Amino acid sequence: MYINGEWIRTKQEFEVNNPATGEKVDTVYFVGEEQTNWAIEAAKEAFPQWASFTAEQRSFYLWRIVEKLKEKKEELAQIITKEMGKTIHHARQEVGSAISFFQWYAEEARRVYGDVIPPSAANKRIQAIRQPVGVIGAITPWNFPLSMAARKLGPALATGCTVILKPSKEAPLSSVALFKIFDEIGLPKGVANLVIGSSGPIANALMNSKVVKKISFTGSTEVGKILISQSAQTVKRVSMELGGHAPFIVFDDADINLAVEGLVKSKIGSNGQQCVCPNRIYVQEGIYEEFAEKLKEKVQSIKVGNGLDEQNEMGPLTNEEAIEKVQEHVKNAVHLGACILNGGKRLSDGTYSNGYFYEPTILSNVTDEMLITKEETFGPVIPLLKFQSEEEVITRANDIEFGLASYFFTNDLSRKYRVSEQLDYGMVGVNDAIPFGVQVPFGGVKESGMGREGGKYGLDDYLDIKMISVQI
Ligand code: NAP
Repeated sequence: MYINGEWIRTKQEFEVNNPATGEKVDTVYFVGEEQTNWAIEAAKEAFPQWASFTAEQRSFYLWRIVEKLKEKKEELAQIITKEMGKTIHHARQEVGSAISFFQWYAEEARRVYGDVIPPSAANKRIQAIRQPVGVIGAITPWNFPLSMAARKLGPALATGCTVILKPSKEAPLSSVALFKIFDEIGLPKGVANLVIGSSGPIANALMNSKVVKKISFTGSTEVGKILISQSAQTVKRVSMELGGHAPFIVFDDADINLAVEGLVKSKIGSNGQQCVCPNRIYVQEGIYEEFAEKLKEKVQSIKVGNGLDEQNEMGPLTNEEAIEKVQEHVKNAVHLGACILNGGKRLSDGTYSNGYFYEPTILSNVTDEMLITKEETFGPVIPLLKFQSEEEVITRANDIEFGLASYFFTNDLSRKYRVSEQLDYGMVGVNDAIPFGVQVPFGGVKESGMGREGGKYGLDDYLDIKMISVQI
């Protein structure tokens, strides 16, 4: 752990293993409730000075983080691939994304404006100013271990907040590498603190603390709900980036090749382990067969293997439970009448024998009753559903508790607007399977969460508005 500018080792060791080979990558040291409280205290002590810095001063530190991340890009990408399995190409993209978040907020730190409000009495002057929320608890998942940390720490540090980061114990090494950078650039002590360990004790300390003013969480809806209810005890602010179940709709007037290309990129790039992954592929009946054929051809060419091998396009899943979930969803779908067009099995021979590999899989004849259309699969399975009309597909796409990302493909201009407005999701990609980037507001509606990360919107979650009325 890194607390108040010091690296501290506890007695409880934990091995991080490579999901492609089962080999040990490194050891981390688990903290408990007591050490988390030290981190909270350090963040509290550091807050007044950090908040009092000018935006330009804080921006200076963020720029130095950007420079170091650039210098260490390859080293960081290797760490990500080894700790959670994604291919080295995708890991490099993730480091690029982390760099862009720190860079964006290094710039955006200087644009935290307030308002002058017209008063209702001649002898009053009213202002609204924006101030940092205070000490932040940030909890991140394993699937984007570096960029999720950057998406929270960038705006938090830019606005003058101090932070305790708890990464997932499944993939904590990229956070350790990030904090080594903080140390190297001389980030003031206590401004950013790192705790790794079992979720229960760390969450207890963060959630029970009156000092921690806000929790920014990215992870499953299940855990998000627990944290929302715990936040009531101290009325903490919360930002929740939770699970998704994205519909991907292909209308019969769409460019099929573009849709196939985008679907495969979005789904396979992260081995299906992404909150914004297309999970229900609705294809209009007139083009269903042609779409399925083209998709199969594309999916069959995907090279699966150890992510460190430059040739591979898809790595392993993260652990045994991930494999079991995929197997359960495929079994349930086949039992209820789905057909396996491609894949459908765990890969366990030869080079795959010590890892968590699963074949890129396509299921056809999928229906709304199957588990795979209701729960996140978090694996490389593409379920194809047939639909007839626009009205029908919108109803079916919206009929779920999640509301994160959605996609549709069409060449009809009025449909582009009509369907975008009717989809009950925080994000819509139109003929665009990867509509994300540092400048966009990323986040969901319904049980996919609250708050937005990224762009100018990402600052709001770390700022309180204060009204000042002066009688003159
Ligand atoms: P998760 O099990 O909810 O874990 C997320 C984080 O919460 C990890 O750091 C985890 O630690 C911690 N955690 C687990 N139980 C906790 C508890 N009771 N109290 C406090 N913290 C707790 O999710 P995951 O499996 O890591 O990630 C996959 C999920 O994240 C999917 O649902 C995915 O859709 C979602 N996700 C959403 C976004 C988004 O931006 N909306 C982005 C990425 C992922 P440990 O892992 O150490 O237990």
